[in-house]
Amino acid sequence: MIRQITNPRELRGLAILSQPDTIIQTGKNEWDVRSQSKDAYYQVIRTFPKDRKARMHDPPSWICTCPDHTTRNVICKHIHAVQLSLKIAGDVKEKSTPAHIEETEQKVACPACKSANVVKRGIRKNGYGTVQRYGCNECGYRFVIDKGFCRMKFSPKTITLTLDLYFKGLSQRKIADHLKQFENTSVAQPTILDWIKKYLKLLSQYSEKYKADVGNIWHCDETTVFIKKEGKKKYYEWIWNLMDSKTRYLLACQVTETRYVKDARKPLKRAKEVTDVKPDAIVTDGLPAYKEAIKAEFYGLNDRVQNPHVRLKDFETKPNNNILERLNGTFRERTKVMRSLDTEMAATEFVTGMQIYYNYIRPHQGIGGLTPAQMANIPINLMGNRWETMIGLASGK
Ligand SMILES: [Zn+2]
Ligand SMILES: [Zn+2]
Repeated sequence: MIRQITNPRELRGLAILSQPDTIIQTGKNEWDVRSQSKDAYYQVIRTFPKDRKARMHDPPSWICTCPDHTTRNVICKHIHAVQLSLKIAGDVKEKSTPAHIEETEQKVACPACKSANVVKRGIRKNGYGTVQRYGCNECGYRFVIDKGFCRMKFSPKTITLTLDLYFKGLSQRKIADHLKQFENTSVAQPTILDWIKKYLKLLSQYSEKYKADVGNIWHCDETTVFIKKEGKKKYYEWIWNLMDSKTRYLLACQVTETRYVKDARKPLKRAKEVTDVKPDAIVTDGLPAYKEAIKAEFYGLNDRVQNPHVRLKDFETKPNNNILERLNGTFRERTKVMRSLDTEMAATEFVTGMQIYYNYIRPHQGIGGLTPAQMANIPINLMGNRWETMIGLASGK
């Protein structure tokens, strides 16, 4: 289950965060938090247990100079605000349970009459190996199970290796060199792009099937990508990334030409399609367009938090530890070897591919080597060669 904020003091702490200049870090374990009712600051102090062993197990204790804490000895909204700011900055790890994955291996059924009463009927040879043939006992139809590579001239290994190397940031020429040298296979550069487009389309359609079970704090930012259009000078477009902090699931990845409110709304709108979770906080940089965009898409949608917008600039606790940094690095690794986008593939196609690679294929150190899709309880069981398994599952639809 996802932890939602229900404690009223914690909710008020979140409200503090969404206003500018309310938290100032004054020491390693000390913060000034502005009072909401009068022109003053309260001091919040974090203390770790002195004993070394206790430090391993016991959480730090918190005090605040406000009346709520000093008289009632409760975790006040100021302490909550500081704790949330640390969490948002990625400083405090949230405990999460690894996904429970359902078995997704499909039963063989006849494509003609849908009967499960089928038997194996020999082996068929193709360009790179063999495929199992089946016959239906009900209607007599003969068929093979298409695992996504049926009519391909190259082996699943060669094709999935190509996909993997592409998203790891190798240029098409280097991929061709690698296949030649280590796989003894000659693949033309245009073929590489054909494969990538073909399989990304398949995988993105397949991934649409499931809703992501994500956390309640999301991060959104925008980064540039180089585009070249026919007959025009080179120019930039924007990639908007919206990521859940708990699972690192990339909820949306959208390309726009400008950075207006209508553009900032695109990733937010998309996120509403891929998850049923209503965020308590959407953390952004200072871009003004977010203010209106988040209001338009999320204001009042959440019954606990009216406006989830939190600007990172407003509480400079640890702003450089943005969880989107790693993702942006992955994008840069790929785009720097492309002469420019659009000459290779459409920018939207490209970001869709990156999103699948990031969510489903690449294990994430920050979440114990799992993939964000696993963390987000998406019941697609990918073992071994993740590309091949996913293509197989997607082709069985
Ligand atoms: Zn307080
Ligand atoms: Zn049949």
